[in-house]
Amino acid sequence: MTTTLNIGFSFKTLYTSSRSRARVGKIHTPHGTIDTPSFVGVGTNGTLKALDSASVEEIGLQLMFCNTYHLMLQPGSSVVKQAGGLHKFMNRSMPLITDSGGFQVFSLAYGSVADELKGKSKKKVGGNVLKITEDGVLFRSYRDGAKVLLTPETSVQAQKELGADIIIPLDELPPYHIDPKVLRASLDRTHRWEERSLIEHLKNPNQQAMYAVIHGGVDPQLRKLSCNTLAALSFDGFAIGGSMGKTKQEMQTMLSALMPSLPIDKPNHLLGIGDLESIDQCIPLGIDTFDSSYPTRAARHGILLTKSGPLNVTQGKHALAFTSPIPSCTCSTCTRYTLGYLHHLFKAHEMVGMTLATIHNLHFMVELMRDYRKKILNDEI
Ligand SMILES: [Zn+2]
Repeated sequence: MTTTLNIGFSFKTLYTSSRSRARVGKIHTPHGTIDTPSFVGVGTNGTLKALDSASVEEIGLQLMFCNTYHLMLQPGSSVVKQAGGLHKFMNRSMPLITDSGGFQVFSLAYGSVADELKGKSKKKVGGNVLKITEDGVLFRSYRDGAKVLLTPETSVQAQKELGADIIIPLDELPPYHIDPKVLRASLDRTHRWEERSLIEHLKNPNQQAMYAVIHGGVDPQLRKLSCNTLAALSFDGFAIGGSMGKTKQEMQTMLSALMPSLPIDKPNHLLGIGDLESIDQCIPLGIDTFDSSYPTRAARHGILLTKSGPLNVTQGKHALAFTSPIPSCTCSTCTRYTLGYLHHLFKAHEMVGMTLATIHNLHFMVELMRDYRKKILNDEI
């Protein structure tokens, strides 16, 4: 099934498993193809932490996520535009996706779901957020204290200056604990903001695709309403955002109910979820792409991902292990350096230790997703 969504962007499902909703597909963008299901690395400031763009491309990471909020404040989206756009600025030839900036602004206001569950939430608007109105959200830059107004239109304009292949409309991120009536009002506002974002985007499509963001918290009726409302507009794909629930089981229940309401001829993305257990749970539900900073963050703490669980290179028992960290791995770290050497680099706080661990974890994720695609094609998932 092929849908031509706009010039330079299209999605094709190659195969759907006979056992589940799991599917193998290809997203075509002006900067190349993304094989799905795919892992999306998070490069907040226009770089994956500890790895330059050339290394990331060598490893074969097909899609990378950059954060508009951070790039708007440093160096500024107009600086990136003057550099020739984000691809040129960071010397990446492969696809990029940017978000609206809203998630970071609202996370600063409410704290994360984890903070909220621990009772650390500010409950009401706080942090650097000054005001939320129908127009948008006014916040104070953490860099220089300047007031910044983020509206659906300014978010899209910033994402035009950045020039990623896939962009995201502005949404309102409600706190996790929210009255159902307030959640409904927030959802309605999010839909209005997303439509305004789409209108702004379509004034100058710029060969970019825009994914809608499905909200509705853990309420199946609101999730369904969100799918129906946004699927009626001309978005190129769908991202799933907002609260995913307190546990992985709640997330699975929510997604199982939601996924059949999404159009099957367009790609979908699960925002901010990419730990190994969640990926394993969500691929059979038909999720195409996952972004997470987990593999790169774990690497910086000396954790190597393996099929048999995490390997912590900082443990003393590895000091004399002068063999490959993971002998079956073909990455440039595991084929060139020993576990004992990695252990030493972390103990000595040498930066290259983080780089070598990040190379391994990213390679692991790329290979993991390749294995998933193979399993789907063999109806094993
Ligand atoms: Zn490796």
